[in-house]
Amino acid sequence: MEEEITEVEIKECIKAALRYHKVKSKKLWVSLSKISNKIKSAWLRPYFMDGQFSILLIATLLTACGQKTISSVKFKSDILKIEQLAPNTFQHTTYMETETWGTVSCNGMIYIDHDEAIVFDTPPTDEASKELISWIGASKIKAVVVTHFHIDCLGGLRTFHNEGIASYSTKQTIKLAKKNLEPVLPRNTFQREEEFEIGEEIVLAKYFGEGHTKDNIIGYVEKEKTLFGGCLVKSLNAPKGFLGDADVMAWPRTIRKLKNEIPNLEIVIPGHGKSGGTELLDYTINLFTEK
Ligand SMILES: [Zn+2]
Ligand SMILES: [Zn+2]
Repeated sequence: MEEEITEVEIKECIKAALRYHKVKSKKLWVSLSKISNKIKSAWLRPYFMDGQFSILLIATLLTACGQKTISSVKFKSDILKIEQLAPNTFQHTTYMETETWGTVSCNGMIYIDHDEAIVFDTPPTDEASKELISWIGASKIKAVVVTHFHIDCLGGLRTFHNEGIASYSTKQTIKLAKKNLEPVLPRNTFQREEEFEIGEEIVLAKYFGEGHTKDNIIGYVEKEKTLFGGCLVKSLNAPKGFLGDADVMAWPRTIRKLKNEIPNLEIVIPGHGKSGGTELLDYTINLFTEK
């Protein structure tokens, strides 16, 4: 797989490149060499030596950086972003306006295999759901799974139903969504766990216990060692978020149970914020463990 570089590294590169004439070339060289092993010292050295570090070269470097990062972003509009995290697994990110936190980005997962797809969580709006569905292709989507009863998981359900896509959640989620007076509910239910056959693989939806809500479940793709934690899992350095429906005592226990049962995870997608690895699970455990 292609080596990824971080946003911070690109920003450093841009800053360093633009300030070149004021920056010691050694410092610049260090940040440039981090960016890509494709940029060979032999190729760059002459530019440093005779001071021809031109706008053109900067542009070339930025393009190289840009392509590397953007290569994982498969679609981007004002209201939807789709990133590829593994050969068949994608993260969808959409945006929600809230009174308390302003604009909040919300994540979901897409798994596509042999022209069949499953989506975990709808975008919060119908508009973003429409874009998401048309990017995948409505006829491919076998199921949309709602991982808890809040709007950032089921706000776009109407659009999925209009496209004839089957929706699923636990019975508990239906109960809580009804109580919350949600106008559109998932149409199929399961108790604690459900396996979906997508292409040639099994994708699991499973309840491990309370945390962010009473009903929060996760999605798991064994083949790609990928977990969609939903709002049960926090991104690194995230605050505790909305706790009105949470059980903060049970939360760390639930994550530990999940870790024990699925020990070989490589990719973890949280409900909000940046995806990562199992450090997100440990961060969440720590966040809700009393010190
Ligand atoms: Zn929630
Ligand atoms: Zn959430």
